[in-house]
Parts: sequence; C-alpha cells; structure tokens
Amino acid sequence: AGAGEPILTVAGVTMQFRGLKALDDVSLTVAHGEIRGVVGPNGSGKTTLFNVISGLYRPTGGRVAFLGEDMTASSPYRLARAGMSRTFQNLRLFGDLTVEENILVALDRSRTLGAWRYLLGPGVILRQDRDLHRRAGEVLDRYGLTAFAALAPTSLPYGIQRRVEIARAVAAAPSLLLLDEPAAGLNGEEVRQLSEIVRSIRDSGITVIIIEHNMGLVMSLCEQITVLAGGRVIAEGEPAAIARTPAVVEAYLGD
Ligand code: ADP
Repeated sequence: AGAGEPILTVAGVTMQFRGLKALDDVSLTVAHGEIRGVVGPNGSGKTTLFNVISGLYRPTGGRVAFLGEDMTASSPYRLARAGMSRTFQNLRLFGDLTVEENILVALDRSRTLGAWRYLLGPGVILRQDRDLHRRAGEVLDRYGLTAFAALAPTSLPYGIQRRVEIARAVAAAPSLLLLDEPAAGLNGEEVRQLSEIVRSIRDSGITVIIIEHNMGLVMSLCEQITVLAGGRVIAEGEPAAIARTPAVVEAYLGD
C-alpha cells in the first residue's frame, strides 16, 4: 500500500439496533502506521464500531474499506485473512489450551501454505510444524511469556492473560490490530508495560486502533484520537487539542 493511503476507511456508518442507533453516521480514516485512540463515555458506541470494522456486525448503513478494498459485508474470517486482528474487552483465550497452544493456533492461521500443506507429504508438514514451534517460542519470548508456555491461561494472573491475548493477536501477523480496552484491570506497572508493547507493535509495522478508558494511556500513546458520544464522532485530533475541546470535556462530565 502506498504511503499516505489509509489502511482503514469508515464512511457514514450507522448501526441500528431496533430503536437504538448505536452508531450514527460515523466516519473516520486511519493512516498506515498510526496508533489511533477511540474514546468516549460508556455506551457511546466504541465496541459496536470495532464489531462493525471486524465484520461481527453488518452495519445498517455506510461502508468500511480495509487496505483499499470494500469490506462492508465481509465475514470476520475473511477480514482476519486479509490482515485484521483484534482483542476483546472480555478475554477470549482458549481455556483448554496452554499459553503456547493459544499462540500456535494464531500462527497456524497465518501460515502461507494453507490447506495445501496437507498434500505435500509428512516431511513438509514436520518441517512446517517445527518452524511453527520455533516461531511460537519467539513470540512467547518477545512478550515475556516463556515461563507460562505450558500453563493454562486461566490459571495465570489477569495481567498476564491480557498479554497472552495481545501476543496471540499479533502472532497472526496482522497489518491492523484492534485493541478493545487492553488496560482494563491492569495495575500501573502493567499499564506502563502495555504502553511499551503497543509502541513496539506499531514500530514493527502494524497499525493499531485502541479503545481505552485510561485517558493517560491514550493521551501518551496515540497520535490521533477519535471521540464518540451517543454513537456520533464529536471530536477528532491530536491529544492536546482533544483535551481542550469543550464538547469532549462535557461528554465526560456526564459519564
Ligand atoms: P461502548 O463500547 O462505547 O461502551 P457499545 O458499543 O458497547 O458502547 O454500546 C453502544 C450502544 O449500543 C449501547 O446502548 C448498547 O447497549 C447498544 N448495543 C451494543 N450492542 C448491541 C446489540 N448487539 N444489540 C442491541 N444493542 C446493542
């Protein structure tokens, strides 16, 4: 993709649930390599926006384009294949698998040979599987998870589980990563580590959109912030400008 070309374009998206417009004519454009913050009071439509972008909800109006292609009616599976990865507000790790296996599943999905590998004979599969384990080891190491590799995620402290979820999302080698409230439930030190992790993810070439309630984190991490209230974009811009916008201050006073 060319420099300056957006990685994601949301154009006039509306999401209507019966009587409620969770999103009302929402438009935003995210550039390659950006860390974008999405903030807003509870119920303002942030998670709904992620659900539309990642294909879980089909919007009742508007378009979503990813990497220059219209993806409005695409399935989450197709979007994942196209290079979009996400985490959830409530962790969704595989509880029956170990930490390493959770990573392996994501790596396996990102492999290039796909189903063809099963036609290539056991030698190729063995080499591929060895390669997968090596790559899983690298991911575990990079995220400080090696000591927990053989354990069930649910047996681990919450902050570690959050890190496993991010590691798994990144292991799928996305070009766009959506993080839904990654700092929720973390202590100060863990938030500081998270901030470094997100920066390193971006520095590796992955664009990041982050929904977050921790304003300190959003302000220090994001180049651009989009503010939602009542399903509408009420402000967008650099952190310093956002913090001075009266409509934003007002929206938060009512939270
Ligand atoms: P936020 O993430 O900003 O807290 P949400 O996107 O979760 O806000 O919710 C926005 C509004 O849409 C809320 O009023 C919520 O109850 C409603 N909503 C979200 N998902 C659904 C759904 N699947 N069905 C009906 N209403 C929904």
